Amino acid sequence: MKDANCIFCKIANGEIPSRTVYEDEQFRVFLDLGPATRGHALVVPKDHYADLFAIPEDVLAKAAQTAQKVGASLKEKLQADGVNIVQNNGAAAGQTVDHFHIHIIPRYKDDGQTIGWKPGELTDAAAEEILGALSAEKK
Ligand code: AMP
Ligand code: ZN
Repeated sequence: MKDANCIFCKIANGEIPSRTVYEDEQFRVFLDLGPATRGHALVVPKDHYADLFAIPEDVLAKAAQTAQKVGASLKEKLQADGVNIVQNNGAAAGQTVDHFHIHIIPRYKDDGQTIGWKPGELTDAAAEEILGALSAEKK
């Protein structure tokens, strides 16, 4: 399934050129146009799934394996010191392209990049409220 209006469908299927670092029947991995660091790449399925909650389990498993394999190769060949794997779902979570993708972000000592969040505090009241909401959901 492809979406005619989706830029990642077009890139993944070769209709729009990209700086491809890996390709197989199901996935294309290409360099991000707005890289966080040297070698920042995106694992993109050739079929269209909007996000983590729309992608079938078996495709998700292969996407994770592809991120592992290509991440290891980028780390080794670019001599990175670490790798962040990032995956955003929904505008509130920073998703800007509504076609599932996994970011592979090689990290270098002192690269000056920040990928993270401001830690809050898990109070007893908050924990109870959350666990209550989750168990209510189960029923
Ligand atoms: P997200 O914010 O998780 O949806 O990530 C979308 C990513 O796609 C961003 O990091 C963009 O820089 C990247 N991006 C958008 N358009 C293109 C494109 N045409 N080629 C490569 N990367 C792109
Ligand atoms: Zn798409």
